[in-house]
Amino acid sequence: MTLNTFAPHPGKAAGKSVESLSAKSSVAVIGAGAFGGWTALHLLRKGYNVTLIDAWGPGNSRSSSGDETRVIRSTYGNNEFYFDLNARALTLWKEHEAQWKTKLFQNKGVLWMCYHEHTPVVNDSIAFAQKHNMAYEHLTRNDIANRYAIVNTNDLSHAWLDPYGGCLRAREACQAVYKGFIAEGGRVVQAHALPGKIEQHRLTGLLLSNGQTVQADRYIFACGSWLGKLFPDVLGNYITCTKQEVYYFGVPADNPTPYENFPVWIDADGKDFYYGIPGNNYRGFKIGVDERGEAFDPTHGDRVSNPEVLKKARKFLAHRFPGLKDAPLAESRVCPYENSPDGNFLFDHHPEATNLFFLGGGSGHGFKHGPALGELVSEIIAGNNIIPQQFLLRG
Ligand SMILES: Cc1cc2nc3c(=O)[nH]c(=O)nc-3n(C[C@H](O)[C@H](O)[C@H](O)COP(=O)(O)OP(=O)(O)OC[C@H]3O[C@@H](n4cnc5c(N)ncnc54)[C@H](O)[C@@H]3O)c2cc1C
Repeated sequence: MTLNTFAPHPGKAAGKSVESLSAKSSVAVIGAGAFGGWTALHLLRKGYNVTLIDAWGPGNSRSSSGDETRVIRSTYGNNEFYFDLNARALTLWKEHEAQWKTKLFQNKGVLWMCYHEHTPVVNDSIAFAQKHNMAYEHLTRNDIANRYAIVNTNDLSHAWLDPYGGCLRAREACQAVYKGFIAEGGRVVQAHALPGKIEQHRLTGLLLSNGQTVQADRYIFACGSWLGKLFPDVLGNYITCTKQEVYYFGVPADNPTPYENFPVWIDADGKDFYYGIPGNNYRGFKIGVDERGEAFDPTHGDRVSNPEVLKKARKFLAHRFPGLKDAPLAESRVCPYENSPDGNFLFDHHPEATNLFFLGGGSGHGFKHGPALGELVSEIIAGNNIIPQQFLLRG
């Protein structure tokens, strides 16, 4: 399953075009997370009349985008499509943080700690990195030890440092996009939305929890891990929701700097994929375990962490960063993964309604792509691009 997060299978065939939408038409986007928020903003800039609807607000605590930070990395194994999407996203993140005067991207670098001489998830991306002038730096075990004294290198072969990556301030970014959308003239509604009836291959409207209805020319459901529940017949088994946990450990009082300044890191043993984001806003040394957790209800589920997963995280931390052996748990957070069957994103229309689109399937790696994905979706809706084959709903 971990390959779904780090290197989804690349698609081969061409994609699919959809009926183009003329300027000034209306679009309702449901969900103001990383996918919906950026899509709404790009559609607005194309001249559409866009309404963005979210039940609990952008970057809310139930959403996948609602954590403090997310990794931004170009490394995607041999999957050039996501490498390129990330490269475009990185440009857009930088442009928007300058435009909004809000710090969103932290260029801390991403350190891939490798156990074997050849680590496909990294090695297979090297050619793409060179093509984009985003080359990685090879570090021997000695280099790692000299540069980062807090790392136990005993079981490592080497590391690759991607100096162009880092992390994004996730929930704050969703709120910045939302504010940007409003400032540029977008309409927002805080309400729970349900799809109305499908008649003659069209969705007829939305029913909102505030009693209102919304009619639009296109409806884009960017509802993260809720998609399977909203469309059980089509997506019930396609987008599944699992409980994922991240932990923030307190750094030593007498020696915080090497921990705070450590790059984003990924332990690429090919099995568990522990990863971490240190030192954002003094939240502590964050660690995540990229294995699919138990099935989770994103609306009603309590966000209480699982002691077994915490135990694993602690054990790993003590091994790789011995100075954190007795570090206290400062915070923890439960976020849902919205898994597609193979880790690829989903963008396609409902099989019975050509004006109703699904956008989701971030599968543990979607956040970073938000700006570029939103741009691509707006191009597809306008009829200027086709849906990439790997995003299509597969039967
Ligand atoms: C623990 C964890 C670690 C991750 N790490 C990374 C990482 O390092 N890098 C990375 O790029 N990605 C990462 N991801 C993945 C990334 O966070 C997600 O892919 C991305 O945030 C998904 O965004 P989304 O907009 O699709 O969904 P969400 O953020 O869940 O947004 C969906 C929105 O829809 C709203 N909604 C749902 N149903 C309705 C309804 N009926 N009516 C109105 N509103 C509704 C919700 O309130 C929510 O705001 C991680 C995810 C998790 C859980």
